[in-house]
Amino acid sequence: MVPTRHPWRHNLLAALVPILACAAPAAAQPFDGERDSQPESATLAIVGGLLIDGHEGPPLSGGIVLVNGDRIVAAGSREALAVPAGAEVIDATGMTVMPGLIDVHVHLDILGHSDYQHWHGTHRPDYADVMAVSARQLLMSGVTTAVDLAGNPDALVATQRRIESGAIPGPRVIASMGWITNWTAEQVGRHHRRTHTVNVRTVEEARGAARTAIAQGAGILKVHTGLSEAQLRAIAAEAGRRGLRVTGHVGDRDDLLMRIRSGQDGIEHLYLSAGDSPSIHPDVIQGLVDRQTWVVPTMIQTMAQGLAVEWPDRRDNRRARALTPPDLWADVRRSLENPRRFGYFGGGLRVNRFEAMGAKLRQLRDAGVRLLVGTDAGTPLNFHTDATWQEMDLMVGFGFPPMEVLVTATRRNAEYLGLGDEIGSLTPGKRADIIVVDGNPLLSMRDLRNVAAIVKDGRVYKRPDAGAR
Ligand SMILES: [Zn+2]
Repeated sequence: MVPTRHPWRHNLLAALVPILACAAPAAAQPFDGERDSQPESATLAIVGGLLIDGHEGPPLSGGIVLVNGDRIVAAGSREALAVPAGAEVIDATGMTVMPGLIDVHVHLDILGHSDYQHWHGTHRPDYADVMAVSARQLLMSGVTTAVDLAGNPDALVATQRRIESGAIPGPRVIASMGWITNWTAEQVGRHHRRTHTVNVRTVEEARGAARTAIAQGAGILKVHTGLSEAQLRAIAAEAGRRGLRVTGHVGDRDDLLMRIRSGQDGIEHLYLSAGDSPSIHPDVIQGLVDRQTWVVPTMIQTMAQGLAVEWPDRRDNRRARALTPPDLWADVRRSLENPRRFGYFGGGLRVNRFEAMGAKLRQLRDAGVRLLVGTDAGTPLNFHTDATWQEMDLMVGFGFPPMEVLVTATRRNAEYLGLGDEIGSLTPGKRADIIVVDGNPLLSMRDLRNVAAIVKDGRVYKRPDAGAR
């Protein structure tokens, strides 16, 4: 991307598309922390820095966040709150303190390689090891909650347990376990994720697949293509009983409209059955608005694959390499040598495609469709180390106010997941998922590359490096 410093025109896309006039932001709420009283005890204090609490109100300069155990107990100004004796202090002076990022679409079993058949053929026996690498990459990039949309259930459950016990660093993982399809036997047989494809042919089987995923520990259900309306409704009913979302891919426009009708809560990817058309069909927009369906654009996934051919330098991503064991990195890197071999790279960057992407994104936003931040991280050239901030940067490039983007990647994503009372903002009582960013994402979303401190559930995973500033 073009490295200029203009906050409103700071990437390639901003140069390609007209800038959206600044739409009226949601009504600003007062800074929550100011109302908090002084807690008697705290285990951790993050002191100084610009506080962005996730409520879309104005940020607070020179803030303090107090944590006791795994919970936030106060957030406000340094004048109003004192650091209780015994608390560990993280000095955030000159930096930005905000809620941990939430990415609602990742794949822990892949690391950005290009050759799916090779990767899954090779790494099926050690999925849990690969997932540990992805988990660390995500957390170290400021992602404190991630939604895995299809992986091996045993490996996912093992990974969740290892993260929760503190054995390995990683975000809180909400997983769909497998994904549910209605494919032919031949389609299933040749698919690289066939071992966690749950293929159903009847309504009863669809219901059973939903129940099985939930029994395995699914926190969301993922559907893929081919399902009938009756099957979708059965899956949505099972999910609804447990308060879970159903999300996934869609086929053509009729299929998309059917899924919205059937109660699929989320639509993954911005293709939205428009093919190469520059806009989304009005019937689709109307359906999304009427049913309040959420859309996860995963623009960076499309972008990464487009860039693979034009700007292959991306394959030498230093952050991903630094956080990947050498043998796995060698495998990833080898697969990226000749991306043209793979059809999904689509012949490289096509500017018109990205113009259409921006136009569709704005169309959705203008209509009031609820958008989320998810990235499909792990897919080819879409590294866990960078996907989330890059998706957010694309949103800013397409004209979204930065504060709205931050709130989308935190509080709005949490609300979508039904975790609005637990995570997504620096609100007392919520889990202490906090990142300290060296810089100010309201000025440059790319500053999110520089996460200086990471706290999840009150545990400190990274502290500011005194030498770096
Ligand atoms: Zn995906």
